[in-house]
Amino acid sequence: MRQETIAIHGGYDRDPVSKSVAVPIYQTVAYAFDSADHAAALFNLEVEGNIYSRIGNPTNNVLEKRIAALEGGVGALTVGCGVAAVDYAISTVTETGANIVSVPQLYGATYTLFAHILPRRGVATRFANSDQPEDIEPLIDADTRAVYCESVGNPAGNVADIAALAACAHRHGVPLIVDNTVATPILLRPIEHGADIVLHSLTKFIGGHGTTLGGILVDSGRFDWKANAARFPMMSTPEPSYHDVVYTDHYKEAAYIGRARTVCQRNTGSVLAPLSAFLLLQGLETLPLRIARHVENARLVAAHLRADPRIAWVNHASFPDNPYHGLVVRYLGGQAPSIMTFGLAGGFAAGKRFFDALRLFTRLVNMGDAKSLVTHPASTTHRQLTPAEQARAGVSPEMIRFSVGIEHIDDLLEDIDQALDAAGGRR
Ligand code: PLP
Repeated sequence: MRQETIAIHGGYDRDPVSKSVAVPIYQTVAYAFDSADHAAALFNLEVEGNIYSRIGNPTNNVLEKRIAALEGGVGALTVGCGVAAVDYAISTVTETGANIVSVPQLYGATYTLFAHILPRRGVATRFANSDQPEDIEPLIDADTRAVYCESVGNPAGNVADIAALAACAHRHGVPLIVDNTVATPILLRPIEHGADIVLHSLTKFIGGHGTTLGGILVDSGRFDWKANAARFPMMSTPEPSYHDVVYTDHYKEAAYIGRARTVCQRNTGSVLAPLSAFLLLQGLETLPLRIARHVENARLVAAHLRADPRIAWVNHASFPDNPYHGLVVRYLGGQAPSIMTFGLAGGFAAGKRFFDALRLFTRLVNMGDAKSLVTHPASTTHRQLTPAEQARAGVSPEMIRFSVGIEHIDDLLEDIDQALDAAGGRR
């Protein structure tokens, strides 16, 4: 099936009893055992089935199968939100003394997790000076457990050269983990280019309506954990916390996602509510349609901003002179996502007046909604970073970020124009 069809039908065989056309919301904590032997077999992973909704739920399972299919993975795990997906992606393969190597252009809470929280758990983050493989590779050593990037950085808008990063990680027997939130599998499928693990904040474009938090991890099934057993003993040696299961034996190519579920989720409990999974599935059905409109509106908004002398600069990879345009062509079919940043010629003060004068664009911290949204990253999403860290993450003090929605383009352009007029300064 093509992406448009998977987004609507993937992972759901009509419930044989109810024949429900919509995916049912299984609002239950637990599932009945037929007998003591059945319960024991479930716990021993000898038979498949549901046990308890902290480790699996049929509604969530449809969303997991659907997104795994969209990304081309062998399995997926839904969690409560995107940052939990980032945390579990790392926690599944790290222990005290390990390090990860990351690009510097990251979503703010991911940066904080890597720079401040993981080190307190004994996992160091080595931030490269750029997203270029030649800056990443020298940082990988015997204790490195993952290379990490966002396929399209939020808010930097940089595009990771996934094939090159995967090649440099794989040369050292290390997996590449990619946050694909901004691009979505409609624009980019990182696994096709060598990524081993893909994650999403489902809260953004996939949900698409600003109603529901969610996160997901997708396992490509391609990383050879056994061949790299010295680095990843937790994958191919008996797991003491789960009666000595060996993930690579039991889950075979889906070992990573099996461990994420039975170690991270089972014991620390970031869980997606089944009602949330249902709402996210509604959003997912129209994702391909919405993304096409997001991309087109963003291209037009970026061009409009750039043509106005009251705007000093616009960063959007739809411009042929953008340094990442070549990678947008290569990895995203030339379709730059609808996140863009810009600064006003009048600097921070004019930007603040413009921000306050917008009527249709909603001032908030979020992105990927059908509605157009505006954010000031330096004072919100990236506030905890020092000015130097902000600069490395691609955030400047005057920078405004748009997440362009799917409204009529003329209404968006008119709102921008009236806000520029209100902010003062001659055209
Ligand atoms: N990854 C990216 C790229 C994000 O932009 C965000 C949130 O903005 C997250 C992860 C975290 O997602 P959530 O808010 O669902 O925890």
